[in-house]
Amino acid sequence: MKIILPGQTIGIIGGGQLGRMLAMSAKEMGYKIAILDPSKDACARHFADTFIHADFDNRNGLERLCHISDVVTFEFENIDSDLLAELEKDYHIVQSASLLKTAQHRLLEKEFARSLGIETVDYQYVDEDTTGVQVDGTYLMKTVRFGYDGKGQSRITEASQVQPYTLLERLVPLDKEISVVAYKDRTGIGIVAVVENEHRNNILYRSIVPTTASPEQEAQAIDYTRRILEAADYYGVLTVEFFISQGRVIFNEMAPRVHNSGHITMQSANKSQFRAHIEAICGLEVGPIHNQATTLYNILGQDLSYFLKLIQERPVHLHLYEKEPRQDRKIGHINFPGHIRLEEPFIG
Ligand code: AMP
Repeated sequence: MKIILPGQTIGIIGGGQLGRMLAMSAKEMGYKIAILDPSKDACARHFADTFIHADFDNRNGLERLCHISDVVTFEFENIDSDLLAELEKDYHIVQSASLLKTAQHRLLEKEFARSLGIETVDYQYVDEDTTGVQVDGTYLMKTVRFGYDGKGQSRITEASQVQPYTLLERLVPLDKEISVVAYKDRTGIGIVAVVENEHRNNILYRSIVPTTASPEQEAQAIDYTRRILEAADYYGVLTVEFFISQGRVIFNEMAPRVHNSGHITMQSANKSQFRAHIEAICGLEVGPIHNQATTLYNILGQDLSYFLKLIQERPVHLHLYEKEPRQDRKIGHINFPGHIRLEEPFIG
């Protein structure tokens, strides 16, 4: 695999908080950064040597990014995977456009998981014809593309509620949810962290490391994640989300990139997911990663004053993304040593 060294340029498609933290990590190592984003206010821009203001499907903009970069990565999934596949032929892009295409489509993603012997929830795909669809219980109806943080999802219990081009997933009882943040570098596959995640209104709220899952459940989730990384021509960090339902480990979805739950590794681990990703895509060896007990809380716009007060009262690791604090918008996260639970509600 090609080795990209500090001094050379890493191109990032997407200038949100993931791009920002990737860029910060790469800058620490001495890399140059080029970022493409459709927003002039992209919060990663402060860490870019070159900023390309263009839409994610703008071929000219993407070609320019690829041209000036020694390796190109993405932090954002809703990009044109066919266009990326074309660019992959001419430029150094190592995160597999084909795996991205699978991850972008809930049906393809579930079929892919099943083809690797990975357990998923029961599902049925609904095409344009909704007649004859059986709804025997409670299902989550999800748009097959462009869903995140629970967007494009609704609970249904009757056939009359079924919409075309959706995936109906049986609602399973959740014991807990975990994610495996893993990487593949030129030497093989490794684990950055296994994280337990709590959601509120479908938005990640709190994460902890280590999880309260059993060692067998963690081993199963890690084995499933390895199968995905082994099957894909992929380098970098990849995250897989799992449900633990009535003791069973069930695949939910994968993200071929760094992930919100992995932000905990900025403090829990000897090497963060961002550093691991940069090293893996640059052809370097990531090496073993160890974690210590840590708790992450995401900071939403409405909670900013609470957390600004908190950092004056106790030692913590606050990370703000310099984003406009709007209701329910993720604008930062905070990591605490050990397992803690904050008192609610967060009123500053
Ligand atoms: P998703 O965007 O598909 O990851 O869903 C967001 C959240 O909704 C998940 O993290 C779960 O908390 C919940 N959820 C999604 N699908 C299911 C399901 N089939 N059964 C139970 N809970 C689910």
